[in-house]
Amino acid sequence: MILVLSPDTRSDSSEYKQLMVHLANLPGISTRVHSEVGVEQTLTEVYLIGNTKALPVEDMRNLPCVEQVVRISEEYRVLGRHKDDHRSTHFDYNGVRFGQDTLNVFAGLCAVDTLEHVELMMRALRDNGQVCTRMGAYKPRTSPYSFQGHGKACLPYVFELAGKYGIKVIAMEITHETHVEEIRDALFRTGNATGVMLQIGTRNTQNFELLKIVGRQQDFPVLIKRGFGITLDESLNAAEYLASEGNRKVVFGLRGMKTNMADPHRNFVDFAHVPVVKRLTRMPVCIDPSHSVGMRAPSPEGILDIMHVTAQGVIAGANMVLVDFHPVPNKALVDGPQALLIKELPLFLEDIRIARAAYEQRTALISRYQEAES
Ligand code: PEP
Ligand code: MN
Repeated sequence: MILVLSPDTRSDSSEYKQLMVHLANLPGISTRVHSEVGVEQTLTEVYLIGNTKALPVEDMRNLPCVEQVVRISEEYRVLGRHKDDHRSTHFDYNGVRFGQDTLNVFAGLCAVDTLEHVELMMRALRDNGQVCTRMGAYKPRTSPYSFQGHGKACLPYVFELAGKYGIKVIAMEITHETHVEEIRDALFRTGNATGVMLQIGTRNTQNFELLKIVGRQQDFPVLIKRGFGITLDESLNAAEYLASEGNRKVVFGLRGMKTNMADPHRNFVDFAHVPVVKRLTRMPVCIDPSHSVGMRAPSPEGILDIMHVTAQGVIAGANMVLVDFHPVPNKALVDGPQALLIKELPLFLEDIRIARAAYEQRTALISRYQEAES
């Protein structure tokens, strides 16, 4: 059970103390308090752990400071949607809103290779009104002999260029806890010129110790990719690890499932799960068309499969698109064959606008239908 307290409840107020004494005396129940300090207000939630079945919701609602009581089911306690749950489905980071009602595009390099390529990418993003990007510094590779990413060496110029071109959030995969510190340090040295969304890749979805450490920090939001060979439930539980440790700024990423049934695509596109994840949880949902499709093949009408599946995800309500671009794909050190060209960026963004407008028309249509029915 979660007690959502009135905004700006102070922990030194007598009402709060009264509440905590009452809760401490409930037999077999322990509590965990989570406070989210926002720009406008501080929100506090008290988690009641133990057998809460016997606690009447009405009685709990009448306790001091309590505004809302949510009886949670076993699964995805923090990030899940529960009955009569009015908790928010968005968060803000570095001036950008991430929610189940917004759409952010993160076009960028799969792996940072040269400063020149980073600059060409960021300039194109700025020229096309974009404030987010993806930039891989730490690359998990199948072969130990493949390029592993420039690591912390590239962070200073990546962050400086992001600041120069007005990029506010960079999605950057980390594969080890030390990378969080390296990113924090490098950002600090550039006077926090930009922000970073830490990415947990599909290969690390169930690296529970990494999840716990990333979940314990609240400086950076997290994009967690679905594990490519596990169930959706297992991946959502992995996301819950982050939140159970304290970090609720979590975006869930669909990136296709590994099976040869996907041939000729690299992975089996799973964007039919966009509405499923939104129904089960309060997380914004990201789609990664590049790592799903993995190739630049066009369909007979000329539209690339990558753009088709992007539109499919967006028309189903996706909230974030993570996509590989490269100024010279044949020089890319990682995933060149699936990269879109910089000159294709305006086309890609316009195609997304069409799909998003269609999604908005569809939600308006269903609202009218529901109103007429009620
Ligand atoms: C990536 O986004 O660069 C990446 C490696 O993705 P995934 O973890 O989905 O394979
Ligand atoms: Mn890649």
